[in-house]
Amino acid sequence: MSQNQYDTVVVGGGIYGSCIAACLAQSGYKTALVEAQDFGSQTSANSLRTLHGGLRYLQHFNFKRFQRSVQSRRYFLQLAPQLIEAVPFHLPLQRRGLKSPLVMRAALKLSDFLSRDRNHGLEQQAHLPNSSIVKPSALPSALLGNDNSNYAAGARWHEAIILNNEALILEILKSAEQAGCDMTNHCRAQTLEIIDNEVQGVWIEDTQSQNKHLLRCKWVVDAAGFNTGQFKLKPTPDSNKQPLQWARANNFIINRRLSNKGAFGISVTDSLKDHRAAGKDDSRLCFCIPLENNTLIGTFYQHQEAANNCLDLSAAEKSRLLEQVNAALPNANIDPSEITQWHSGWLPLKPGSSVEAFELEDHSRLINHQAANNSGLLEVYGVKYTTAPAVAQDVKAMLAKHLKSN
Ligand SMILES: Cc1cc2nc3c(=O)[nH]c(=O)nc-3n(C[C@H](O)[C@H](O)[C@H](O)COP(=O)(O)OP(=O)(O)OC[C@H]3O[C@@H](n4cnc5c(N)ncnc54)[C@H](O)[C@@H]3O)c2cc1C
Repeated sequence: MSQNQYDTVVVGGGIYGSCIAACLAQSGYKTALVEAQDFGSQTSANSLRTLHGGLRYLQHFNFKRFQRSVQSRRYFLQLAPQLIEAVPFHLPLQRRGLKSPLVMRAALKLSDFLSRDRNHGLEQQAHLPNSSIVKPSALPSALLGNDNSNYAAGARWHEAIILNNEALILEILKSAEQAGCDMTNHCRAQTLEIIDNEVQGVWIEDTQSQNKHLLRCKWVVDAAGFNTGQFKLKPTPDSNKQPLQWARANNFIINRRLSNKGAFGISVTDSLKDHRAAGKDDSRLCFCIPLENNTLIGTFYQHQEAANNCLDLSAAEKSRLLEQVNAALPNANIDPSEITQWHSGWLPLKPGSSVEAFELEDHSRLINHQAANNSGLLEVYGVKYTTAPAVAQDVKAMLAKHLKSN
């Protein structure tokens, strides 16, 4: 790779870097991808595996985000239908308010209508059916317990669940390689090579041999997840900006299947306040997703400072999260010994978030640090696994102004 001249070197082989590298290579740009560890082994390996259809975004009337989710989900379903499964999701409904059958029926109908092209071009097995309102008795029994008279009805819709996050990234990498993208893992990008205010390449270090190499390129796309923003470009337009804040996000897996009817939502209370969510109380939704004989439960958040900048949860934090789930699902009575895995990663927060009340960033961000002569550095801050393909298209559109494809 150090013999070549690239248009773009993408740093970080998570879902964002992989989608961006594939998209650029398929558009005719000479592209290389560099990953410091194993491809897809960091935050992307820890996602709740849900390729969101965007139902949630409708409560904020965010139609653009909804459409980008649906389009990106279709990209994944087209690429690797064997690695994704349509799973029915359930939410118990109350008699009145925003989570009543009346309001949810309208929301589900709108969602089905706006995503009416969601199955376009997909194999039958990958199709996502229409949503419905179901009787309380049709809800997963873990939700109902002994008494199903509490709920007026249930909402039922389908989400696409990734069976294996890492395998999906490998499919994307295969498509990138077929389009001519060069790639390496276990190589860490370290510094930009800048001469006369012009980006000439990026220095990488082989993490095993410690050998250093210069990859020559005009543009570096920094898609290093939590490490994005590691490079300096002088003069850096954003150098005086406050550093980004992050939330630690966690899921856990138990070795028991809580439902034979699909996934379901539960209300939990933690530090993340979803100010704009339906209901506006202090609770927010977590999901219990069946995975063969296990259940994946999440997602829980904590401000980076409250998490002491550390991805590992303490024993006290683990038992606090389990308490929240057991409080929401008294009949499930999950024992700590049933937990087989914890998943953790970092997600960007909105500016101005505090430890006590914080909000996750809604939109992925691209920060363009252009140097002279159409060379430069593009930082990518991704917020959802789902929308990485849409962000890759945005990156391509931005770089197309500077680069000529072959
Ligand atoms: C618990 C949890 C649950 C989630 N659930 C969902 C969900 O259900 N649906 C959804 O859509 N999204 C979900 N997300 C969000 C989603 O997982 C992230 O938005 C996405 O994975 C971020 O991908 P990324 O490529 O930006 O980061 P990463 O996956 O972290 O990739 C960045 C890569 O860059 C590499 N790197 C860093 N520095 C360097 C360097 N100097 N040189 C070379 N490589 C470098 C890292 O090793 C890493 O592999 C969840 C996140 C978490 C943590």
